[in-house]
Amino acid sequence: MRKKRRYKKLRWKPAILAFLILLGISSACLLLFGNSNTKSATKQATKSEKIVTKKAPVQKASAKKPPKKASEKPKPVTEKTVFLTFDDGPSPFLSRFTNLLQQEKVPATFFFIGENLNRIQPETAKAILASGSNIGWHSMTHDASLLYRKNSPTFLAEMEQARALGREKLGITSNLIRAPYGSTYLSSALHQETKDKGFTLLDWNIDSNDWRYKTNSARVVETVLHQANALAKQKEPLVILMHERKNTLEALPAIIHALKKNGYSFQAYKENTPFKLNFREH
Ligand SMILES: [Zn+2]
Repeated sequence: MRKKRRYKKLRWKPAILAFLILLGISSACLLLFGNSNTKSATKQATKSEKIVTKKAPVQKASAKKPPKKASEKPKPVTEKTVFLTFDDGPSPFLSRFTNLLQQEKVPATFFFIGENLNRIQPETAKAILASGSNIGWHSMTHDASLLYRKNSPTFLAEMEQARALGREKLGITSNLIRAPYGSTYLSSALHQETKDKGFTLLDWNIDSNDWRYKTNSARVVETVLHQANALAKQKEPLVILMHERKNTLEALPAIIHALKKNGYSFQAYKENTPFKLNFREH
């Protein structure tokens, strides 16, 4: 027994010695580098604190939004409601459109083409929504020969792709869509599938023909106001189809002023807007 114990002691001695040496080395290391490590840790902490403080106002703003959005009741739509809609963007004119709308204090609805989304930054998209305007999707390619072809039309896949891209690239969620050239091109099956996938489709009842009157903004104003007059007699809200074009930009102030003068109030079209305009369901 004794022998055994001694043997054990002898066996552990070098181990304890090695441990003590190691301890000595590590404390020396701590003395030498510990300070700088703490410094860098503090640096990192300050850095992350800085990031947090930097982010704080943004978080505050977005934290304020959701409850507002959740409690946001749909605005009533009357015969004196007008929805301005701008298709085919984002275009190089987008900022001029948004500036003008803010100046006039009117919201609008933009239908973006997926393939154009590289022209817009997430901040711009979010600013559009924050200003009370709305964003929807207008396919990826805008190519009728693909979107509405008899065999495997790409309409639904393109809308889903645009919606996903909007979520990924811009961080916005919207199920609002406008069919290029109008929903009349959709087959009944495709129209039903579109609804099943959770999309809200918006067509129009005023065509500005701004693509036709390429350089003539006066003609665009005239076209819109003439149709607005006709619809006023039918006591219908107005959904005006326009595009992000230069001539449209030039026509817009006159259109807005005339409609304001006639007692119209402007709304962005939302998914919960209690008014539907869909050629397929007319
Ligand atoms: Zn279009």
